[in-house]
Amino acid sequence: KFNQLVREEPDPIVKTMSLYAQDPSPNKVDVSIGVYKSESGGPYLFPCVAEAKKILAANDPGHNYTNMQGIPEFLEGARRAAFGEKYASEGKLASLQTISGTGALHMAFLFLREAGYTNYYLGVPSWSNYVSMVEHVGGKVTTFNHYREDTKDVDFDSVVATLESAPADSVFIFQTCCHNPTGADYTQEQWTKIAELVKQRSIIPLLDTAYQGFSSGDKEKDAWAIRHFYELGIEFVVSQSFSKNLGLYGERVGAMHAVVQDKEFVPNAQSTLVALFRSECSFAPAFGARVASIVFQSPELQKVWREDVANITKRLKSVRQKVLERLTKLQTPGTWDNVIKQEGLFWYSGLTPAQNDRLISKHSVYSTSIGRVNIAGLSDANINYFCDAVDEVVRA
Ligand code: PMP
Repeated sequence: KFNQLVREEPDPIVKTMSLYAQDPSPNKVDVSIGVYKSESGGPYLFPCVAEAKKILAANDPGHNYTNMQGIPEFLEGARRAAFGEKYASEGKLASLQTISGTGALHMAFLFLREAGYTNYYLGVPSWSNYVSMVEHVGGKVTTFNHYREDTKDVDFDSVVATLESAPADSVFIFQTCCHNPTGADYTQEQWTKIAELVKQRSIIPLLDTAYQGFSSGDKEKDAWAIRHFYELGIEFVVSQSFSKNLGLYGERVGAMHAVVQDKEFVPNAQSTLVALFRSECSFAPAFGARVASIVFQSPELQKVWREDVANITKRLKSVRQKVLERLTKLQTPGTWDNVIKQEGLFWYSGLTPAQNDRLISKHSVYSTSIGRVNIAGLSDANINYFCDAVDEVVRA
């Protein structure tokens, strides 16, 4: 009966966004939702996407159904982006076009359940959707610490201890780069140790890649962990989003890949993915995937894309540096160098919920209640205002 339904709380970020929209202050700053913004503060249209849209408009493919597995050129490009040319063509991958990264994760959870995996491990804090999404399909999540407040860096001992004690056939969800919300990523040395343990202990990794390129500025380098796991000869799953690194948020462009070691079983995995997707959505949306395919297929646009990603990363790093310089100049009590050590869109500020509330109520600075600051929401026009506000709430 519908009257038995409970009233669900909206995601806290929705509340923050609507408070921001209603705030009349001319100084208001939005550093909440994880969207890349340009120096001028607006949404960023990737030049490679702008060009690809023109090409698509001039070669209108119409509106027929596409392919249940996904648009082949899109899947080919998505595989290459994640695994590199060589591994993408070895025939060990079953791939599905999905409703962006969230859809890729959902299909990964369903696929893993179909293969008998329902026991998950997740380092926290993490992207808030994972736990509810796993539970939504009947899985169970055990958490461990991803982050240490004292060092403001990854808690490596915690992941090692958890990998050493988790039962075989557990799934570990890892973010490959630009960790949401902490910006604290594993080094290559740490990934190597993680991968060793994963192999030894028969763990299945699910590598979620939503910000590929925004850590080092180079998409290839940021896929290091995926390729390293591939080289180990183990089975694993990758969920991939192009929301951020192509700026195609609303178009829902993503893919899921399963690495199947015995090539003979790739068709089984592939047909399982298609059958599962048939019951979920039938077909993934075409427009964004077509735009992405045009970028993937054109060497010129690939080059523009690489430059776009490098420029974005350069800007993010420069904003981080300016935040540190300002807080240092203000002699804000505390240690703030994690702002330049953390990678990608997010800075995990360490501000308390009360300090974050005060940032909103007194300064119209909208970060998230857990202290995740979207660095891309800052620019020369508001960095000093933002830092002065942080300084004030820390001293209050
Ligand atoms: N994984 C992570 C770590 C994310 O931060 C996000 C988006 N915030 C996603 C997956 C899903 O992204 P989308 O569905 O928008 O592609």
